[in-house]
Amino acid sequence: MVDVRKIRLIMELRESGITDSKVLSVIEKIPRMNFIPETFKHQAYENIALPIGNDQTISQPLIVALMTQNLELIKTHKVLELGTGSGYQTAILSKLCRRVYTIERIKELSIKAENTLKDLKITNVVTKVGDGNKGWFEQRPFDRIIITAATKELSKNIISQIKDEGIIIAPMIGEDGKQILKKFIRKDKKIISQNITEVIFVPNLPGSVN
Ligand code: SAH
Repeated sequence: MVDVRKIRLIMELRESGITDSKVLSVIEKIPRMNFIPETFKHQAYENIALPIGNDQTISQPLIVALMTQNLELIKTHKVLELGTGSGYQTAILSKLCRRVYTIERIKELSIKAENTLKDLKITNVVTKVGDGNKGWFEQRPFDRIIITAATKELSKNIISQIKDEGIIIAPMIGEDGKQILKKFIRKDKKIISQNITEVIFVPNLPGSVN
């Protein structure tokens, strides 16, 4: 059955500057409703963030698309994600790269996301409970790193675990408290940054919750 709401969402993403057809096609294929609690399932294809429990949210589809597009993924890439949340962004990434290593600080969310991904037969994702700011030492270096929680500054671990020419996408909190989605590119020992757009993300918090 053709889902009109899904088609409308894809059109909205296109009009808002998502031009990468691979990103659009993956968003069309992955059922966002699988990642959303029963109460909000009817809003799954609206272009809004929704609650997923534990005071956290699944990101707005446009922001997921924008972050994915800016990662410039290819099939051989190994990606680190900080903030698994519902696992929706993880699922989108998994279809465009070789493997996703994803870290979530809240155990309950990590387990739920792992089950949702398993139901969708996604097998190239490895999950972990912990503080994502530490990165994933055993699996370094990464071609791409995506941070899905608002961050004051990139940790030393994150910077040291990205490959040369690698890209990091993260919502960064400025001095005025506003959040800007930024793209960082590592060139030799330098990090070059570009602003993408203003965003609203839940905060990046230290430690983990059992
Ligand atoms: N990308 C997610 C949205 C995540 S919301 C999705 O598509 O659903 C951000 C998530 O980051 C929350 O689940 C929050 O618990 C987690 N988080 C915040 N700080 C973290 C940290 N330091 N390490 C790991 N996860 C963190």
